[in-house]
Amino acid sequence: MARMDRALALALTRWQHPAGLRRWLAVAGIATLVAATTFLVWQTGGIRYAFSHIMYLPVLLGAALFGAAGGVAAGLAGGLALGPGMPIDTATGEMQDPVNWIYRTAFFVFVGGVVGMLGQAVARLLGEDPVSGAPSQQPLRQALERTLEPPVSGHAPRRLSVLVAIFDNYTELVNTFGPEVGVRLIGGVVQRLQASCQGDAGVYHLHGERFAVVVDGERLDDVRARIRAHFMEPLVADGVPLYVNLTFGRADHPEHGASAEELIQRATIAADLASRRGERERVYDAGSDQTSRENLVLLSGFRRAVSHGELCLYHQPKWHLEQERVVGTEALLRWQHPEHGLLTPVRFIPQLESSHLIHELTPWVVSAALRDLAELQRDGRPWHVALNLSARNLNDDGLIGDLERALAETGTSPEQLEVEVTESAVLADPEQARRVLGRLRDWGVGVAIDDFGAGQTSLGYLRRLPATSLKIDRALIQELAGPSSDGRIVESVAGLGRRLGMEVVAEGVEDRATLAMARSAGCDIVQGYGICPPQPMETIREAFARERSVRAQDFAVGSSPEA
Ligand code: C2E
Ligand code: CA
Ligand code: CA
Repeated sequence: MARMDRALALALTRWQHPAGLRRWLAVAGIATLVAATTFLVWQTGGIRYAFSHIMYLPVLLGAALFGAAGGVAAGLAGGLALGPGMPIDTATGEMQDPVNWIYRTAFFVFVGGVVGMLGQAVARLLGEDPVSGAPSQQPLRQALERTLEPPVSGHAPRRLSVLVAIFDNYTELVNTFGPEVGVRLIGGVVQRLQASCQGDAGVYHLHGERFAVVVDGERLDDVRARIRAHFMEPLVADGVPLYVNLTFGRADHPEHGASAEELIQRATIAADLASRRGERERVYDAGSDQTSRENLVLLSGFRRAVSHGELCLYHQPKWHLEQERVVGTEALLRWQHPEHGLLTPVRFIPQLESSHLIHELTPWVVSAALRDLAELQRDGRPWHVALNLSARNLNDDGLIGDLERALAETGTSPEQLEVEVTESAVLADPEQARRVLGRLRDWGVGVAIDDFGAGQTSLGYLRRLPATSLKIDRALIQELAGPSSDGRIVESVAGLGRRLGMEVVAEGVEDRATLAMARSAGCDIVQGYGICPPQPMETIREAFARERSVRAQDFAVGSSPEA
């Protein structure tokens, strides 16, 4: 009894599942066509007349929808419907010779089976990726839909994972070794994935340099370990051993999605994010997906922000310890968003940097910074403004033109402008960075290495870069005030900067203790909330109006950092 209940529940849940429902509707349609044809043949006088050929319709439909098995079943049903019970002529009641209907049934079955098989072969060909010959998106969806059919109530849903793999260095390898090698590498990746799965998982080639693996929850760890081991060895294409970097995104059923579509999409989102962040593998996370959706929506309003004047520059003063005065400011971008309020760059700069919109931002920042600079130095104060450049800016030859134009339009002397670039932006393409920064130095524009000590440091490049100042990263400076502070690191970085002929700036100076230690470590300039947080242009202007020689106290919110 319990077994019958379960079978009934299974039938019901399958029936309610969209794929199950479609299948049942198709079966009902074919059965109706068989019945309608039988009725028509009967009504039009029996088998003698040509209407029996209409039975090919449900037979072919069965083959098209369910392959060879469907064609054979529909052929059998159609043959039997027009079989022993159907007279040759309904008027005379003359019945068919059994050989007659048996032959016809056999022929229907034959046609249904052959057409079904051909259809399956064509579908397989269409479902294959033309480069690798591996099954592609359609077979992946079908396989997932089949596996994800709902479980009987009370049973745990089937656990499986979809892994989407991106062949990260594919373009680089193709550009270097040519498209022939690219085709071989794609084939090689599919073979290695298949070898790693050893029948425990299905391998699909989504398109281009993207692949998918569908693996049962219990086999996931084994399959991942085998994939990792297989891709430790280089692939040999045209006699050249080449390393393949695969980045994986993963979505698990049922945690991350219920349908084939959701799982594929979410594994892809995770893979894209992992690839952008240089990670090896990432599991889908609804939170970061929501954030990236919000970011994309935010970005869609960016052009409006530029044209509607929603962008503005804040300025953070830089205090010269020896001269005891503010020598300039760093221009920091802000977006006065109509819904979200005042946004700092972390909310939108990284997204702009991964799109072409960064190139629309830079001309705006350049001309706004130079406009502010021109205004602040009107009465001849020695003053400079620094603006931040990203890696993408350094690769954009338009930057030089933008700067040249803005300098000429505002009549600013290039010595009063400084650009800040991070080490990682420089290391993204050191030769290009050296070229662009060298050109700026030739004009007299200052070059600061930003966030120094925050990440990878290449002292070799530091020496070869035409930099005029070194900004020690906030994290390094703030450690000075920590319990296990070691001033020697900052001291040696400051010493290194000065020996290379650079001015040394301590960033993130938040309190007196840090200020004192930055001073004793030998920094020239300090910048931070303790001196003055970034301020809108009006505040800077007012401070100027109050005092000719601008002191930190004019800006400082709260207590002055100076004793
Ligand atoms: P950054 O160049 O390192 O700028 C310094 C950041 O540290 C600023 O954040 C500033 O407000 C913050 N800061 C200053 N003093 C202190 C302090 O004492 N303590 C702490 N905790 N933070 C302090 P902000 O304005 O949010 O800018 C963040 C980053 O966005 C900047 O880092 C810079 O890399 C980027 N950025 C800002 N403006 C632009 C721009 O116009 N173009 C580009 N490409 N990037 C920009
Ligand atoms: Ca900076
Ligand atoms: Ca910085």
